[in-house]
Amino acid sequence: MPEKLINDLIAGNLKKPETGESIKIPIRKILIGSGVIKQILSLLSELNFPKRISIISDDNTHLAAGAEIERMLCKDYEVSSVVLPPDLQPDERNIELLHAYTSASEAYIAVGGGTISDIVKYNSFQQKKPYICFPTCPSVNGFTSSTSSLIISGYKKSVQATLPKAIIADTDILVQAPERLIITGLGDCMARPTAQADMLLSHHILGTAYNKYLFDIQNDYEKELFENVNLLAKRSFTAIENLMSLLLVSGLSMHISGSSQTASGSEHLIAHYMEMMFDGKYPHIYHGEQIAVTSITAAKIQESLLAKELIEIKPIYYQEKPILKKFGEKLGKRFLDEVIKKNITEENAGKLNQKFKENWKDIRQQILDIHISSEKLEEIIKSIKGPFTYKHLTWEHKDYDEAINQCALTRDRFTFLDLAMIVRQN
Ligand SMILES: [Zn+2]
Repeated sequence: MPEKLINDLIAGNLKKPETGESIKIPIRKILIGSGVIKQILSLLSELNFPKRISIISDDNTHLAAGAEIERMLCKDYEVSSVVLPPDLQPDERNIELLHAYTSASEAYIAVGGGTISDIVKYNSFQQKKPYICFPTCPSVNGFTSSTSSLIISGYKKSVQATLPKAIIADTDILVQAPERLIITGLGDCMARPTAQADMLLSHHILGTAYNKYLFDIQNDYEKELFENVNLLAKRSFTAIENLMSLLLVSGLSMHISGSSQTASGSEHLIAHYMEMMFDGKYPHIYHGEQIAVTSITAAKIQESLLAKELIEIKPIYYQEKPILKKFGEKLGKRFLDEVIKKNITEENAGKLNQKFKENWKDIRQQILDIHISSEKLEEIIKSIKGPFTYKHLTWEHKDYDEAINQCALTRDRFTFLDLAMIVRQN
């Protein structure tokens, strides 16, 4: 059944409820399952893929699949393999190098995890050359997002990129992924409930968009995944395939909505703050490992506010001075431009308080209906021996505390962290 949803999305059979128009996705095919690597030749011919192809992998993923793909294609295509060092940084230098190595090619195949996918999709967008994504681990939802997470001038940034023409996710290869990368894939999926709660809250407070169907399409995969984490730990083919499918649909939900909000709320803000402000202080921690921990924290904060029978908020005006003092001129100015969009005037606070008096019970119920408790989230990640406290990530308490309390200042996104700052304590 889940596979049907992916096929329906590709075929344009699903409609946007708000307008009735078909959802269009530029990905022409997603092959997922055991042994699908064998279909690569027929797929390339079906896609009318160009003849000169660069296969981009790293030392590990070349062995896992890159070499095999090269062998399968070398008779009919002019292939060259670019094998990068593992743990490559997706920064300007490596992007330029990749561009130089692949300049003679007409198309690419990205064989690897999130970083390889990110640099190839960015290169593909810049060079206007198509690519196929061949994930070797179910570790991120970025395989199907149209942005790349790159390090530009020393800062992690999300930049415009492009979607692949096709995705080939072979479970024979995915089940052999390193354990940490499977945990990180599951961890990134744990953001859905807190991100949805934040988006729904923002919808009620600021009137921002909330497209419930973009979360609904993830439901079946998520239920299956969260109820069977023990099978994931045992690397059951079905559980791995389901995790991969959920990551792909989660990425597509961002692409369809044109915003990362369907997969990223307060839990991502906390993690991004830790990465940005304490860069180099801590050892490398995978994205989804961070998100597993920050999702549990974000769920706890949401629970404490959702426990209230009634809420009342104060107006808020973000001031330049303390923000510039805290973050410095350059970052401070950038954050200020974002955060002032969340100013709440006295008049608006009054209107919202009136709305809460009349509707808070209903709003609260809507959010509780899509919420997963912090306790349950903790249980999920524990059953695969993943991290569930900041201590497991080697983060210090004072830094983590700062991230929780300050990260709302870095983005215009309204989340429960904002509500926590402006709610009147009674
Ligand atoms: Zn994420």
